[in-house]
Amino acid sequence: MTDKTLHIVGGGMAGSEAAWQAAHMGVDVVLHEMRPKVETFAHQTDDFAEMVCSNSFRSDDDEQNAVGLLHWEMRQANGLIMSSADHNRLPAGGALAVDRDAFAQYVTEKLRALPNIRVEYGEISDLPTDGHWIFATGPLTSPALGDAIANETGTDRLAFFDAIAPIVYADSIDMDVVWAQSRYDKGDTEDERRAYLNCPMTRDQYEAFIDALLAADKTEFHEGETATYFDGCLPIEVMAERGRDTLRFGPMKPVGLTNAHKPDDKPYAVVQLRRDNALGTLYNIVGFQTKMKYGAQTDVFRMIPGLENASFARLGGIHRNTFMNSPTLLDSQMRLKSRPNLRFAGQVTGVEGYVESAAMGLLAGRLAAAELLGLDLPDVPQDTAMGALIHHITGGAEAKSFQPMNVNFGLFRPVDGLKGGRRGRKDRYKAYTDRAKAAWIDWLEQST
Ligand SMILES: Cc1cc2nc3c(=O)[nH]c(=O)nc-3n(C[C@H](O)[C@H](O)[C@H](O)COP(=O)(O)OP(=O)(O)OC[C@H]3O[C@@H](n4cnc5c(N)ncnc54)[C@H](O)[C@@H]3O)c2cc1C
Repeated sequence: MTDKTLHIVGGGMAGSEAAWQAAHMGVDVVLHEMRPKVETFAHQTDDFAEMVCSNSFRSDDDEQNAVGLLHWEMRQANGLIMSSADHNRLPAGGALAVDRDAFAQYVTEKLRALPNIRVEYGEISDLPTDGHWIFATGPLTSPALGDAIANETGTDRLAFFDAIAPIVYADSIDMDVVWAQSRYDKGDTEDERRAYLNCPMTRDQYEAFIDALLAADKTEFHEGETATYFDGCLPIEVMAERGRDTLRFGPMKPVGLTNAHKPDDKPYAVVQLRRDNALGTLYNIVGFQTKMKYGAQTDVFRMIPGLENASFARLGGIHRNTFMNSPTLLDSQMRLKSRPNLRFAGQVTGVEGYVESAAMGLLAGRLAAAELLGLDLPDVPQDTAMGALIHHITGGAEAKSFQPMNVNFGLFRPVDGLKGGRRGRKDRYKAYTDRAKAAWIDWLEQST
């Protein structure tokens, strides 16, 4: 191996795909994987790309679904994760479900068969000062490495749990009910004074909402997860259990807000939504992290006035998850700004899910290999699913409230001249995916 070797840490979804892509571009790769020497609480095997929970890659619809589009883009780029998924597919309607053992074994065999990939088993517990590296150590990054990353980035830039508040598509919010206003009209600019959307509740609506929260189905913690991190970010249902008024004096407090539609009505409680991306297409429900099951969440959150027809880009959750504040730490090529010889990829960069993690591995592998080979790759087009994701994590997302993100059409730039709202959705999504496919093919042609 030469000093042009690329080291990849973590043989999960992202690291496996990165190794495959870089090796195919002609780079020598060392793939470092700590299992089986060091285990995580979720992995059960020694295979690469193990699916730790569900066996689904979600929708395979590449015309009407953003994750299906990501599948399509990865297939066009000779993606190993998608080729294994296609080989090991199980019947599952419109979803892409796989035989998890066969899937991981296929990935492991394909990587092992490439002569320019060497596998080294063992934990990497420090950030190397020289060489070319991709860190793809995932949500369960080993604690020693997590400490090393936190030392480099600052502890406030690396999270060990995600407490995710649900995210709503802006065009599904009823603006005849909600109004834009920051509490006490705080802010130096008009934009800041109108930074939040407010959903007003009467006393009856609030009481019904609390009842529904208390009755909703909740998920349990996985073994190995602890609830000790909760200080300051309690799930809303736990707050409700502590007292019926706890939320009204916490994230749902109505003070400092005047209903623009009915200035004389004093709301009993207010749910606030905060802009979640620079495009203004997504809003998160402030302070609404939750362990409610997904089905229960949509039912309960649609009780909030103004959100009766809400569509969710992602639902809330609380999980063990190591991830960095990528919008402030990574450059547009996924390099650590403070140490550009280190790239990060996969869930540790703040994407969420098998597919998104593999996708970011695909990009990191290609970008790192191109750098080693002295090739000048054009920027990943923002109008592709790949580009929308990488753009979101490396700059488009609000850094202050950054939480892991699934791919979704809210990350895409609008297509001019198309109808907003639910009725225009089918045409809009088709326009997004057509535009993305053309841009992705163009990028792949320019990159080879
Ligand atoms: C409990 C749980 C349930 C989940 N359920 C789902 C689900 O149902 N659907 C879904 O889409 N996503 C799910 N996820 C998220 C999913 O696991 C990730 O999106 C995906 O696996 C991330 O890919 P990755 O390559 O970034 O990390 P991983 O696939 O986790 O791979 C990281 C690899 O790095 C290795 N590693 C860690 N630290 C070191 C180190 N210091 N040195 C060397 N190697 C190291 C690990 O052993 C692992 O093999 C779940 C995650 C968890 C924790």
